[in-house]
Amino acid sequence: MTIRRHEVLARALTVRQPWAALIAAGLKPVENRSWALPAAFAGPLLIHAGTKDDRDGWAVPGVREALEGWPIRYGAIVAVVDRVTCHLGEGCCADRWGEHGAWHWVLEGITALPEPISATGRLGLWRPEPEAVVAALAAPQSAG
Ligand SMILES: [Zn+2]
Repeated sequence: MTIRRHEVLARALTVRQPWAALIAAGLKPVENRSWALPAAFAGPLLIHAGTKDDRDGWAVPGVREALEGWPIRYGAIVAVVDRVTCHLGEGCCADRWGEHGAWHWVLEGITALPEPISATGRLGLWRPEPEAVVAALAAPQSAG
């Protein structure tokens, strides 16, 4: 197995449902976090769906409808994000789910994985198993 540079750089972020699915579906290009993206990191970022639901998330009007027919996975890497930038939310990105006062992780080039990859989630920005990274990055990439 040959590991390429962008594969070494890849990290994963565990996100609860329905948010992981909304990101994978390209419907939520801004992830709100209480902590800033490490300055040295710009992607690729693997979106890992945690094992738990965010009940409040599912209760947001329109979320269930938006995900109708979309597979909801748990405990698996469900998407790859090519590039990530970060800024402090100050009234911006409201049309893309950005919350005031949170750090906005702006996700560009999102590709949903046709075959989610089982993985155990962790806190923070974590380093997935090399096999998982290679498999995720081998998925057909979006043009975005
Ligand atoms: Zn913003």
